[in-house]
Amino acid sequence: MATQAEIFRIDGVSKSYGGVKALDGVTLEAGVNEYLSLLGPSGSGKTTLLRVIAGFEAPDSGRVFFQGRDVTHLPAHERGIGFVFQNFALFPHLTVRQNVAFGMANGVEKVAEAEIAERTQSVIDMVGLTGMEDRGVEQISGGQRQRVALARTLVMHPKLVLLDEPLGALDANLRGRMRNELRAIRERMGVTFLHVTGSETEALAMGDRVVVLDRGQIIQSGTPDDVYSTPASPAVAHFLNRFNLFEGSLSGGNFTGPFGAVAAPTARRASEDVYAIRYDRVRVVPAASKVTGPALTARYVASEYLGSSVMNFFETADGKVVEVEHHLSLGAPETYEARQNYLLTWEPDQAIVFGREGK
Ligand code: ADP
Ligand code: MG
Repeated sequence: MATQAEIFRIDGVSKSYGGVKALDGVTLEAGVNEYLSLLGPSGSGKTTLLRVIAGFEAPDSGRVFFQGRDVTHLPAHERGIGFVFQNFALFPHLTVRQNVAFGMANGVEKVAEAEIAERTQSVIDMVGLTGMEDRGVEQISGGQRQRVALARTLVMHPKLVLLDEPLGALDANLRGRMRNELRAIRERMGVTFLHVTGSETEALAMGDRVVVLDRGQIIQSGTPDDVYSTPASPAVAHFLNRFNLFEGSLSGGNFTGPFGAVAAPTARRASEDVYAIRYDRVRVVPAASKVTGPALTARYVASEYLGSSVMNFFETADGKVVEVEHHLSLGAPETYEARQNYLLTWEPDQAIVFGREGK
């Protein structure tokens, strides 16, 4: 991304509320036309970060740059940064068209009537709301309200759009469709999106780059592929919700966990010893099988169909749930017998090992 022109940069931004450090020395930049996903659990500082970039909140320390200019002390309405709020924040008594036109009709810069009408219609068409212009926003669906919120922001022609969990209020089905649409709309507009989400699936699916926030700090930033295949810490692996994590101890290049002792020649440095194996890297074999390498006895509990894969849940004798994912593209799923023991195993070189003696 270094070759891209920079659209915004924040440098060492901290922000506390009372005793709570919502942001703790955050440095982040985005390129023109980049789609950035910001992933973090609830309370990690995602909304605060967006509010600081938009100018609704002043940082205690650090600086905010937008299009090369220091805007740290510039009020929000002079920054020209778009913001799609988590709850949409539409005007309930106005129509779709009036909501979309509102910013132009009431903004600091005067926009001619004809231009307001033209820009409003064009963005309404782009987000797929043609024909709904005169409906009240109480008379349309959640997905359509989401489009109005987006249209209302895009009509102002911002160079940067901040979206705070924009799909969080939609049902799962609609969320999937809106994901594709958001990406397509952004590509058509050629603007930078900073999309905040608590959903790892959304972050990995949508971002050109995924930034992971935890307790006010960025703990990883990379392409979805990088983050998924090489999480930087046990915390990232945990948020991704795609790894079984085992406690144990890393010593002399071996990790000893509930599955026995396994060679771990390439452990990564971390503040705790944790063994991570992806859900889709675990194999299930009959309980009496002889395996070399890690082996964990666990009883089958249940399965869940997820469209393109099946998640199988197993439980070890000491109550740990182990998830095994089977991608349907690899063939029909196995069926397992409820409450029966199986042996779970995997290739040790597929694991990601973290530990105090790692490098
Ligand atoms: P997220 O959007 O990731 O859920 P937030 O940025 O909303 O996280 O909040 C980060 C932390 O800052 C939380 O502990 C939250 O309680 C606190 N916080 C956020 N806004 C305020 C505020 N206006 N007053 C007091 N505490 C706040
Ligand atoms: Mg939030």
